[in-house]
Amino acid sequence: MTLIDFLTAQLDEEQRPAEAASPGPWHTDEEGEEVCAVDGIVTAEAFALSGNQTRATAAFIAANNPSRALAEIAAKRAILKLHARAHECSVIDEQGDIDPCYWVMETESCSTVALLAQPYRDRPDFDERWAT
Ligand SMILES: [Zn+2]
Repeated sequence: MTLIDFLTAQLDEEQRPAEAASPGPWHTDEEGEEVCAVDGIVTAEAFALSGNQTRATAAFIAANNPSRALAEIAAKRAILKLHARAHECSVIDEQGDIDPCYWVMETESCSTVALLAQPYRDRPDFDERWAT
């Protein structure tokens, strides 16, 4: 499995529930404890140890609604498309320095694509060679 195939599979997996969920954008109710879909239907109730934490949790859920998730997935797919073949790119070298004009021949050496994979390090198909 290539890094691009791995990332595409992760984005496909994230896209399915985002498309099936209540449509966004979402917002919190007046008390900030419930999350409502664009049609006003309650999609989630937040619970936490304190009122402030409950409101922060509801706000976090509302901010990470399906519309935002789908926009992020589309942006990541566009980034993958830009970096999926030989290209000149800014990369992080072995010393941790940034090389702003590196000629990337294989996607596995593109730091941008490797960084996109880091949130998925816990997935079974993640290859440790992609770790940054
Ligand atoms: Zn690149």
